[in-house]
Amino acid sequence: MSRLATTGEVLQLVRSGEAVTRAEIGRVTGLSRPAVAHRVAELLQRGLIVEDAEGPSTGGRPPVRLRFNAAGGVVPVASLGAQRTQIAVCDLAGEALARTDVEIDVEEGPDVVLPLVMDTWEKLLDGRTDIVGIGLGVPATVEFAAGRTESARVMASWTGVMIPPIIESRFPVPVLVDNDVNVIAMGEHRMAYASEIDDLLFVKVSTRIGAGVISGGGILRGALGAAGEIGHIPVRDGGGVLCRCGNVDCVDSVASGTAILRDLSEKGRDVSSLADVTALVRAGDAETMAVVRQAGRRLGEVIATAVNLLNPAVVVLGGDVAEMFQPLVSGVREIVYQRSTQLATRSLRIERSRLGPGAGITGCALMVIDHVLSPAAIDDTRAS
Ligand SMILES: [Zn+2]
Repeated sequence: MSRLATTGEVLQLVRSGEAVTRAEIGRVTGLSRPAVAHRVAELLQRGLIVEDAEGPSTGGRPPVRLRFNAAGGVVPVASLGAQRTQIAVCDLAGEALARTDVEIDVEEGPDVVLPLVMDTWEKLLDGRTDIVGIGLGVPATVEFAAGRTESARVMASWTGVMIPPIIESRFPVPVLVDNDVNVIAMGEHRMAYASEIDDLLFVKVSTRIGAGVISGGGILRGALGAAGEIGHIPVRDGGGVLCRCGNVDCVDSVASGTAILRDLSEKGRDVSSLADVTALVRAGDAETMAVVRQAGRRLGEVIATAVNLLNPAVVVLGGDVAEMFQPLVSGVREIVYQRSTQLATRSLRIERSRLGPGAGITGCALMVIDHVLSPAAIDDTRAS
């Protein structure tokens, strides 16, 4: 480092495991021994790191190892879904300490949903007050910096609502809100892929279709936060299906879980939920497999375009429809390898979500933790 490393940057080294003793911090940063000691003392005093007594014994006195103190605070989080909301309190490593799922229709609106979420946090916190920040994922487009929901059609009663001030009036800490798929993409990337991959496209296929883009190791939000909204990109030869957004043949209207259910019902099949469809796929039902595979092809059209634009190392398929992974992915692969450039697909992997539904909780927590523990935030708090 060309200038003197700050306390916040030293914390970053310990968190990432890049330097875990005072001597290593000195080597990596070029700081003098007293300067390292000063910064480490401050982090210890603030409870952000702890000393581990036992190091590997080398005969002499082992160096004291420093460890990020994941128990040094808590992050209440909520991942709002259309029908089910996951609510948790996480530690500073993003692990859920307490968690519960609540069945609630998000269309009930913020006046009903947010108080319920806050009451649930209160219970899960069980008296703890060391809250460093709060994170929410919502099934709508979010203007990230303001925490304002934008989608007029999916969560009508939430349109234009600024979520952070509502939460902050009861919990006066930083509140971050993002689109649910962005949050899941962050969780999936960090917990399952961060050590090997910096560029990942996460596609959630449930009742609706959305995507989260990890580019160069971080989430790509675009100018206002609308990046990754692939659900309303039209496909070729979709059959003229009117989408709820008013356009025709959006991938959402021809390849989502809702579309798969509709197509099977039209064929006279007795299915009322995606769980029914999953069961038919598991049983190897040929007609169901064909419908899911066709949805995969249509999804593949949009993913092929995204692959050409973004060149991800891996495309991760998540959401309820990913339970039907085999027919879905074979349709996706068929089209992606046909339509994407050779260089973009040379080593492209298309895989099923490894984290599953828990990724939303983890992603919400990581979004907050990265924000409040960033070197800038740490050094800022110290100055004030
Ligand atoms: Zn649409």
